[in-house]
Amino acid sequence: MADVVIVGGGVIGLLLAKDLVQRSVSVRIIEQGDVGREASWAGGGIVSPLYPWNYSAPITALASWAQQAYPQLAAELSALTGIDPEFNPCGLLMPDPPNRAEIAHWADRNQKQFGILSRHAAVEQEPALQLPFEEAVWWPHIGNIRNPRLLRSLQAYLEAAPNCSIQTRCPVQGFEQRANGRVGVITDGKTIEAPKVVVCTGAWSGQLLAPLGCTMLVDPVKGQMLVFEPRPGLINSIILHEGRYLIPRRDGRIVVGSTLEFTGFDKSTSGDARSALLEKAYQLVPALQSVSVEAHWAGLRPGAPHGIPYIGELPGWENLYVNAGHFRNGLVLAPASVRLMTNLLLGETPIVDPRPYHPQTPRPSAEMF
Ligand SMILES: Cc1cc2nc3c(=O)[nH]c(=O)nc-3n(C[C@H](O)[C@H](O)[C@H](O)COP(=O)(O)OP(=O)(O)OC[C@H]3O[C@@H](n4cnc5c(N)ncnc54)[C@H](O)[C@@H]3O)c2cc1C
Repeated sequence: MADVVIVGGGVIGLLLAKDLVQRSVSVRIIEQGDVGREASWAGGGIVSPLYPWNYSAPITALASWAQQAYPQLAAELSALTGIDPEFNPCGLLMPDPPNRAEIAHWADRNQKQFGILSRHAAVEQEPALQLPFEEAVWWPHIGNIRNPRLLRSLQAYLEAAPNCSIQTRCPVQGFEQRANGRVGVITDGKTIEAPKVVVCTGAWSGQLLAPLGCTMLVDPVKGQMLVFEPRPGLINSIILHEGRYLIPRRDGRIVVGSTLEFTGFDKSTSGDARSALLEKAYQLVPALQSVSVEAHWAGLRPGAPHGIPYIGELPGWENLYVNAGHFRNGLVLAPASVRLMTNLLLGETPIVDPRPYHPQTPRPSAEMF
């Protein structure tokens, strides 16, 4: 019997498994489809919340910890598996961002470095940027991670780990509390018992946990993205404008995101979204009009109120935990979110105050933003 069963093999489940097996805890991952194919694959991989000053202190605390950890995590996975997650410390440029006063205040409070660039200086840095704007905010320490490669690397690491097993195509239907304090994980074929169980089922967490009487709100929020074929050097940094962004991968591909759609579990792509994303991409960098779109896809973010993830033991249960609801920031938050989960599971000193994330802690409101 594994020490910990993890339900869901997205970035949260896989990274938690890595954290635990590296502490000699045995882990079994149970995934309804294939691992690393849902939101964590579909996301953009910006290692920062968009417009970070709009987020609450609990998000900033996890994001700051994780931003420090990412370069080393990527290097470690690359060395362990030969699959480089291609962390790109490219910086982020925001032409004419809203709320300039708030930016300075937030950056000062959280010891974040930023610069103000004149249009001339910004265009000198990004010559392909053709948008009319007056000045830009430059965040030199924000990068991006190539999330599909991060997931492949994590999967390869865990498949080779002697104390980890991965069971795919095995949807979990529910849970039962055993008299011995263990948790039964109910699947189609059988019930798997474990001393501790962590639910990392992303956008599906609300529906999976609702029958347990949990009041946690996690709803799917669709996002559509495009990627252009490689054009190395066309842009060098992430460019964010009016909620849409271009992300340069290290091989020259440029990812464009994203839409926010409240359409349930539907993952279809649409012509309207494609047109809207292309319009923004061409407005920012007209030279992209001569580059082919390689792919267009959609994924389901695990939307939770204010994007504050639920991390901790489920009320009324013994040894059944949740780590879900990271909304738009699951990739950036993942290293810190799973380390906190590990701390709670193993009785370690937590890296941040766990109270804001506890499933029972009231969120400021039920709104997503
Ligand atoms: C378009 C888009 C852009 C994004 N951009 C960024 C970004 O730039 N930066 C950032 O930080 N974040 C970004 N995100 C958000 C980020 O991708 C998510 O917050 C994060 O991936 C959530 O990870 P997860 O492991 O909780 O969920 P998922 O990756 O969805 O994994 C959950 C897993 O649980 C499995 N599962 C569900 N139900 C069951 C069940 N009953 N039994 C067994 N298995 C089950 C699923 O099949 C899935 O594999 C973006 C998301 C999208 C969609």
